[in-house]
Amino acid sequence: MLVLTAWNKDQLKIESGEADLASFSYPDRKLVRFFCRQCGETLFNSNRFDLRVVPSTLFVKRLGRLPAGFEPEKHLFYGRRVLDVSDSLPKYLEGVDGPLFGEL
Ligand SMILES: [Zn+2]
Repeated sequence: MLVLTAWNKDQLKIESGEADLASFSYPDRKLVRFFCRQCGETLFNSNRFDLRVVPSTLFVKRLGRLPAGFEPEKHLFYGRRVLDVSDSLPKYLEGVDGPLFGEL
């Protein structure tokens, strides 16, 4: 399962190692992937809404858990899921709004 958090541009701050930050702009989408020039790991993406999308695995790899305040709030694209999730979070069938799972 892919767990991501999305932040406004001004909420994300690179505190160190900015010289190692590289990017790749996808030619067919408004999507830019920012990654570490040294190890290749994806650090975040910039999407068509200019949000900074950070994979939660970054935190789990280093801390062994998600930091406080990073708990999931909703499921997106649940209509394309590969497995069912049993929790009480809202499950949007597509994107960040629109119909919820179980509404139709
Ligand atoms: Zn690295």
